Amino acid sequence: MNKQILLVSRPVGEPSDDNFRLVETPIPEPGEGQVLVRNLWLSLDPYMRGRMSDQKSYAAPQPLGQVMIGGTASEVVDSRHPGFQPGDTVVGTFGWQQYALFDGSQRGVRRVDATRVPLSAYLGAVGMPGVTAWYGLVKLIDPKPGQTVVVSAASGAVGSVVGQVARLRGARAVGIAGGAEKCRHVVETLGFDACIDHRAHADTASLASALEAACPEGIDGDFENVGGRVLDAIMRCINPFGRIAVCGMIAGYNGEPIPLADPQRILTQQLRVQGFIVGEHLDVWPEALDELGSLVATGRLVRHESVAEGLENAPAAFFGLLQGRNLGKQLVKL
Ligand code: NDP
Repeated sequence: MNKQILLVSRPVGEPSDDNFRLVETPIPEPGEGQVLVRNLWLSLDPYMRGRMSDQKSYAAPQPLGQVMIGGTASEVVDSRHPGFQPGDTVVGTFGWQQYALFDGSQRGVRRVDATRVPLSAYLGAVGMPGVTAWYGLVKLIDPKPGQTVVVSAASGAVGSVVGQVARLRGARAVGIAGGAEKCRHVVETLGFDACIDHRAHADTASLASALEAACPEGIDGDFENVGGRVLDAIMRCINPFGRIAVCGMIAGYNGEPIPLADPQRILTQQLRVQGFIVGEHLDVWPEALDELGSLVATGRLVRHESVAEGLENAPAAFFGLLQGRNLGKQLVKL
C-alpha cells in the first residue's frame, strides 16, 4: 500500500494536524510510458504554508483532498519508459507520499547522480534552496570582496548557503538566527564572520545595535528571508546603494501583519530592493547547480540536515520548521 498525506482543510493562523489526513491507497501500476518511483526523501519548505492558504499568490493554492505538494528524491522501481531504468535516482515534485507515478517524457523530473553527492543534498544545497541562495546572492546582491552581506534564517537551508557562498566570493557574512546554539553553528561550523541571535533582542533598536557592532562597515547586501523587525533592524544599518534581495517573509506566513517601519530609507540610502521567485529563473539553474554541486562534492560547502523519520511525522516536522526548530535543511526520510 501507498501511504499518502492529503491536505483536507485550510489553516487560520498556525497550521495544525487537523489540516492533514493520512490515507493508504494501492501502489499504482505504471502504464505505457510511465515510471513508478519510491520516494526516499521528502523536502519540507516554508512555501508549503502559502500553498495551504487560498489567498492570491504567485502560485495556485494546493487543492483540498489531494496529496500535499512537496519536492522529493526518489528511486525508480518500475519503468515503462525507455529513458528510465529501475535503480535510477530522480528528483521531482511527487508530494507527501511513499510512491508516485510520472510520465517519463514530462519535464521537471531530474535524474541525479547520488554517488557524487548524497541523494538528500539534491533537495537542499544542490537543489531548489541552493539555487535560491545562489540567485539572490550572485545575481541580485552581487557582493564585491570586502563588502558585508547579512542573511536572516542564517542556519537554514537557504541562509546557510548564502553566507558560505558570500565568503567564498570574498565578502563578509553576518547571519541572524534564532538561539545561541544556531548562532554557534553558523559561526563555528558554517564559517560566517558573526551571527546575531534575534531571540535575544526584544526590539528593533536592540537588534539594530547588535547588527551595527557586527557590521562596523555597515551592510552592503541583505538576503532577506524573514521580514518584520529583522528587516527593520537591517534597514537601519544599510549603506548607501545597498541591495536587498527579498527572498522570503516567513515572519508573516501565518497571516501576521509585518509593516515596514522606515520605507523612506529606500529613498535616502538609494537602495535596490528586488523580490524574486526562484522557479521564474530557470535559465540560471544549470550554472548554479554546477557550482553548488562542485562545492558540496569537494567539501567546500558545509551542509546540515534535520531529519524526521517516516511520512506520518511530516506534519510535526513541518510545524517545527515554521517555528524554527530545524537546524539546516528539514527533510523527512521515508
Ligand atoms: P529554513 O531552513 O531557513 O527554515 C525556516 C527558518 O525561518 C526557521 O528555522 C527559523 O529560523 C526562521 N523563522 C521562522 N519564523 C521566524 C520568525 N517569525 N522570525 C524570524 N525567523 C523565523 O527555511 P528555508 O531555508 O527553506 O527558507 C528560508 C526562506 O527562503 C523562507 O522565507 C522561504 O519562504 C524562502 N524561500 C524563497 C524562495 C523563493 O523563490 N523566493 C525559494 C525557497 C525559499 P531561526 O530559528 O533562525 O529564526
